[in-house]
Parts: sequence; C-alpha cells; structure tokens
Amino acid sequence: MNLARKYRPLTFSQVVGQTIATRVLKNAIKINKIGRDITAILFSGQRGIGKTTLARIVAKALNCEKGVTEEPCNACENCMSISEGKNMDVLEIDGASNRGIDEIRTLRENVKLVPVKSRYKVIIIDEVHMLTQEAFNALLKTLEEPPPNVIFIFATTEPQRIPDTIVSRTLYFELFPIKQEEIAERLKEVAKEENIKIDDDAINRIADASEGSLRDALTLLEKAHIYSSEKITLKEVNEIIGFVEKEIYDDIFQKVVKSDLSAILEKMKEISMQGITEINFIRGFQEYLNDLLKKCVFGEKSLPANLKELDIVRMIKILLDAENVLRWVSNPRIYLEFVLARLCFIPRSIEVEKILNAFETRELPEVKEPKKVEVVEEKEEDRNEWGEFLEEIKKINGTLFLIFENIKPRFKENEIVIEVNSSVYNMMENKKDFIEEKLKEIYGREVRLNIVVQTKETKKSEARENLEKTFELELFGTDESKG
Ligand SMILES: [Zn+2]
Repeated sequence: MNLARKYRPLTFSQVVGQTIATRVLKNAIKINKIGRDITAILFSGQRGIGKTTLARIVAKALNCEKGVTEEPCNACENCMSISEGKNMDVLEIDGASNRGIDEIRTLRENVKLVPVKSRYKVIIIDEVHMLTQEAFNALLKTLEEPPPNVIFIFATTEPQRIPDTIVSRTLYFELFPIKQEEIAERLKEVAKEENIKIDDDAINRIADASEGSLRDALTLLEKAHIYSSEKITLKEVNEIIGFVEKEIYDDIFQKVVKSDLSAILEKMKEISMQGITEINFIRGFQEYLNDLLKKCVFGEKSLPANLKELDIVRMIKILLDAENVLRWVSNPRIYLEFVLARLCFIPRSIEVEKILNAFETRELPEVKEPKKVEVVEEKEEDRNEWGEFLEEIKKINGTLFLIFENIKPRFKENEIVIEVNSSVYNMMENKKDFIEEKLKEIYGREVRLNIVVQTKETKKSEARENLEKTFELELFGTDESKG
C-alpha cells in the first residue's frame, strides 16, 4: 500500500485546493484554448502540492482516447500510461539533470517529430529553473515558434529564477500550499476508505505537520497506520513526527527562567531518547514562545517576575537564528545545548535595568539638589554676545566648546544658567572662574555662571544608549550581517 500514490488525483475535480488553477485549466481545455493559443503552461509552488500531478492531468485531458476533455476517462491506454509516467508522447524531464544546451537541442529535434499515438506531444520539465542561460535561450526559440501539436508544461519551486521572456510565454499558475482544513478533510476520507481508525486530533496534527503538502500528509498517515496497533492517537503521531508535547516546553521554559542549565541538560537527555530531532525541538520551542508572547501581549497570561516581553522576543530571535545554523553544524546535539545555555544566561531586561539605574545614580556627583531655574525673558543682545563667546572658546579650548555648543543657555540679569550632563559637571565647576573671566571680557560686565546638573530624565546616559544599541543589534542584526 502506498497511499500517496494510490490517492494521487487523477482528474481536476480530485485535486484538493488549487481551485483557481483547476477551474481555469478546465475551461481552457473545454474551449480548445490549449494547444491552439496556449502552448506552454507554468506551475510554481513548494514541493508536494501537485505540480506534476496537474501536468499529467492536463496531458490526459488533451490525449484521452475518448477525445479532448476536461474530465479524462482514466481508463484508456493513453490515460493510464500517462498516470504512470510511461507514455511515449508525454516526456517527463528533470530540469536539474538535463540543464545544458545540448539536452535542450536534442529536445528541440525531438519535438519536431509528430506524436506517435496521441494528439499532442507534451513535454513536462520539472525544476525548470535549473536550466542554464543558453538552454533557456534555445528553449525560448522553440516557444516563439512552437511546432504544431506540442505543449510544454513547466514546473518549478523557484519561479523567480526563470527568465521573464519564458514566463511571459506561458499560462502561469502559482500553486499555494493546501489549507490545513482541506488536508484534514481529505485525510478523513482516505482513512474511511482504507478502514484506518484515527482520532480527530491525530488527523489535525498530521495535517499541520505536512505543511500544505497532501502527498506528505498521506505518507504520514500511512506511517502512523503501520506504527499504531489499534486506533491512531495523537500521542503516536507525535512520536512519529518527533513533535514535542507542550508540557515538555513548559518544563524547559521554567528551567530557563531559573537559569537552571544542569536541569535542562538532564531533561534534554530524556528528550533525545524519545527520538526528537534538534530541528523539531527548536521549531516547537519557537512556536511555544511565540504563543506565550502573544498571550502576554493580550493579557491572557503573565510572565514570571524576572522576565519581560522583550526577553521572550530575544529568546525567539535566538531560536530563529539557531534553526538556520543547525543545518550546517556537524554536531547538532552540542549546538542545541549551547543554544539552551544561551537562553539561560542572556542578561534579563530587568537585571540590565537595575544595573543601569545603579550605574546612573552613582554617576551623579554629590551635588546639592538641582537648582530650580526661573525662566526669564531673554535679551537678544545677550544672545549675540553668547555667539561671540562661543567663537572665543573655540579658539582656546575645543572640549569646552563642544560642551557649550550643545547647551542652551538661559540668560538672567547678570547670570547665565547652563544645564550640563552629570559626567562633565565637575570639570565645568573647575573651569568656572576661567569661563566667567571670558564672559566678562565679551559682555563687558560681571556675569555669573550658574552650572546645574541635568535631571536624569532629560537625557539618556551614554551607557544606556550603548546597551540599547547592543540589544537592538542582537535582535535585528545589521545590514552587513544580513548580506
Ligand atoms: Zn482516457
């Protein structure tokens, strides 16, 4: 028994999902468009969603011995041999292994010969994006002047790699992953037909795991049927696909919260005994945390006291990155342990906040309460003189100039109030006499300089800004690292 093969759709109406493609194709065949106006068709979409199946159905619709029909009989010799991929007028070519100019030249000679036993010669090229540029050019010539009674059907997982000149000469269908409910529905029908007993939640899990491919779903159903003794349960399906139960993630998450790495490693030993792969574990953990984050955002759940939403976001990011890296590492087991250790030990937002607060408080020099500044109407002439003063300072002391340049002074009768960052307060106090001297020179009278420390809220400390930048970098990366 091979369920995927046995239940491969034989007609347009049996195709699950892809309603637009099947409807358009049926109509086009009905009104004799294909073969006359349309000599090339392109299907794109992920693997296992029915590209080759649809190509064969089109071939049968054109070559059925009962006549051109949108519902091929599937009983005549032509129909049957096409379904099996053994019809001599329907060529199935793998683009990946026939990608060169020579193969396409041979093909061009071949299509000039009339079909042996059918109305049309149908050339199905799978993974057509693999052809070389020269091969595409040769193919384009054939598409521009197609020999009579030849139909090309292209299938690809990467349509963006096919030249526009080719695509524009085809009737193009983008096939979409089949919806979870549609797959589940079909699985129920097949299970009933085959007398396979299976729980509904087990069906739904298979439909989920097959990610839009009915072929994969049927293969999984068959595996589960062989694996299970009586009625297929969710637990058994989980075991087959290496799905990790939510309770396990609950447990691991609690341990991450406590930064209890040794307990996590113990637990992981247990999990690997169950045959769960690293990639499945990481994907499942992503989903678990994503779900948790959503619940927190919508107020349905709250986080442990030592975590904030941002920490969860960062954990998800670490897991997403890990999924990519995992494909390349030679020892996924060790890598997974490293990733879990990272989750345990990333600095928590709350901790960082505490450190920053302590740091910023300590940074403040021991000064009297920040002085309240009365706002006094400013005199225009004072402002002009301040400009002169800046010019003067620029010549003498670059550092001072940079500080002054970023300060908005407030002018009172015989006083200028400036607010400075706590980190430069002491230096400014030391230079006060010198500055007042300069002010006197410029203003032509005694001007007192009143230095006050900026209140904490007015400006982020450098440390905070740097840390925030580091976090952002960790979360979203830089443009360089993406390239
Ligand atoms: Zn037929």
